[in-house]
Amino acid sequence: MLYKDLLQQIVSKINGKIALSFSYQAEDVVALHLLSQCKIDSFEVFTLDTGKLFDECEKLHEETEKFFKLPIKRYFPKKEDVENLEKKLGTWGMRDNLENRHLCCHIRKVEPLECALKGKSAWVTGLRAAQSITRNELKIVEFDEKFNIFKINPLAFWSNEELFGYIKEHNLPLNPLYSKGFKSIGCKPCTRAVKEDEDIRAGRWWWENQEHKECGLHINEK
Ligand code: SF4
Repeated sequence: MLYKDLLQQIVSKINGKIALSFSYQAEDVVALHLLSQCKIDSFEVFTLDTGKLFDECEKLHEETEKFFKLPIKRYFPKKEDVENLEKKLGTWGMRDNLENRHLCCHIRKVEPLECALKGKSAWVTGLRAAQSITRNELKIVEFDEKFNIFKINPLAFWSNEELFGYIKEHNLPLNPLYSKGFKSIGCKPCTRAVKEDEDIRAGRWWWENQEHKECGLHINEK
């Protein structure tokens, strides 16, 4: 079965609003392309604007809106919380320890995500099991108890070759950071380019252990 047909079958069973999270990765563009071919009334595409994004992500934001002819809605962290966070951590304090990093991710990502998912019945993501050891139990459909929502991961079992082959075949917009050595895209202070033989997520929070490399958005626990 084609992935878009599989996704169509899944979303047809959803009662209520569907949202797709867009975090400027190749996976999100492909998931959006699959979802945009499904016969559904409407869906929302959203991004978490942490205030720490690369300029290249802004470029992709614009290109993607034009390509798909739809808006990508931005959800922001609370201004007051960001001010307090910056007073406490300074510019680079999120790298000092896990507690600081989790606090920053919570304020800039997790809380805005809670707002984005409010009132939605299903959340479509571009997650892939191959991205990280923290994702090796990923399923195509799962219930996210933390955010109390059905989570649909149509690319759960896609390989890198399938992902970039699909982008090329359909001439989809791609984040320019991939051609600068990035294999995974995140916030500017916490993401770096990697070497050819390094792991996909090696450039994310590279100062931490592998098993800590999540920002709290995709940890299915309360
Ligand atoms: S990825 Fe880094 S900058 Fe972005 S929210 Fe998390 S700690 Fe903050």
